[in-house]
Amino acid sequence: MEKIVSLCKRRGFIFQSSEIYGGINGFWDYGPMGVELKRNLKDFWWRRVVRERDDMVGMDGSIIMNRAVWKASGHEETFSDPMVDCKNCKARHRADQLPQKDGTPYCPNCGSRDITEPRAFNLMLKSHAGPVESDENLVYLRPETAQAMFVQFKNILETSRKKLPFGIAQVGKAFRNEINPRNYTFRSREFEQMEIEYFCREEDGLALTDYWLEERLKFYEDIGIPRTKIKIHDIPDGERAFYSKKTYDLEYEFPFGLSELEGIAYRTDYDLSAHIRHSGKSLDYFDDEKKEKFVPHVVEPSAGVDRTTLALICEAYDEEEVAGDGGKSETRTVLRFHPRMAPVKCGVFPLLKNKPALVEKAKSIMAALRPYMMAFYDESGAIGRRYRRQDEIGTPFCVTVDFDTIGENGPDNVDTVTLRHRDSMQQERVPIAGLRERLASAIL
Ligand code: ATP
Repeated sequence: MEKIVSLCKRRGFIFQSSEIYGGINGFWDYGPMGVELKRNLKDFWWRRVVRERDDMVGMDGSIIMNRAVWKASGHEETFSDPMVDCKNCKARHRADQLPQKDGTPYCPNCGSRDITEPRAFNLMLKSHAGPVESDENLVYLRPETAQAMFVQFKNILETSRKKLPFGIAQVGKAFRNEINPRNYTFRSREFEQMEIEYFCREEDGLALTDYWLEERLKFYEDIGIPRTKIKIHDIPDGERAFYSKKTYDLEYEFPFGLSELEGIAYRTDYDLSAHIRHSGKSLDYFDDEKKEKFVPHVVEPSAGVDRTTLALICEAYDEEEVAGDGGKSETRTVLRFHPRMAPVKCGVFPLLKNKPALVEKAKSIMAALRPYMMAFYDESGAIGRRYRRQDEIGTPFCVTVDFDTIGENGPDNVDTVTLRHRDSMQQERVPIAGLRERLASAIL
């Protein structure tokens, strides 16, 4: 894991938030490469679950909502972890994560066994909306994006004119005052979620949960995380939330252990019914054909953007021995991202930076690629070094403009370039015409 953390910092994927002030526990910044990777992930999720489907629509809800939402959803009352305090060093820990010695729990910070009884600790971050910091003005930063999709169910149903089954998708920030932020970005206090609420008739709920499990596994495969790397944890009776009739956790083998990437839960009609009860408003569905009115059930596939981004980096990270300059063996660090996830799709290099004809040609290729993909121009250092730098950020293709391109070695290869492939390190000669189409189809 240290190697991954160090690469992420060195190459501009992830930085500690507020680093020059010593950071802040549980908060992270994504640098130039990280933001591209995360954006590619969110865009592809959106494409798969909204744009390529007839039965899904999107929304973008506010982070702060009426406090009544969190009373109705149960978050104000019960969104808490049981916590204990160490009476010796005052550290606070999750009761269910305390290590044990001879059957007695002890403080992982100082080793003391003098620990308080567990107490509920609410995970919602608070603020105040308005000039007075009164209880009346108390608001929460949403701990999940889901609730906006429930409380806007009626508006979306009416404006989109969808029929059941149909779903709403949303990507956005969520906040949880996690007691123990840890494992890098895996457990943060500010993070992003990609959530779907898929509304259906009660009799279809269980089958649709299995349907979404399969859809989501396909999605992970399509971003470069094979299904063999994902463990499906079918949460047994008694361990699920009381309203859920089926829940699957999808877990990925991170270097720090098998941990949850996504939860797929059949939540019955619990959420809509709770909002109907608390708001006094109707959130029913009317089936025109059957002339029936009822509260829809819902299946919720809820994924974490940051956790999936971290899984993508872990899955892509590779080191291999290759022949370097002069035939000496050297270690190549390479991120083998699926091309559609890679932050930079194509490196563009003139063989020499002091040869204007080469530079001009390379810049014209950059200009042609830019509207279609993230390309990166680099003219400094030996070509081999430039390839290695792109390998480290996972760029699947590099294009080099050389003397053949500009016709200095005869007419045969004019307007062709070397296309170098990251994984095989193979190079081929390809015409500039058609290059953009070829790369665009490889990254789609
Ligand atoms: P955990 O058990 O790991 O705390 P959870 O079961 O509480 O997670 P959910 O409430 O189901 O998580 O949230 C859905 C998804 O949101 C999770 O699968 C995860 O990808 C993401 N997520 C939840 N909490 C965090 C966090 N603190 N940091 C980063 N991502 C998170």
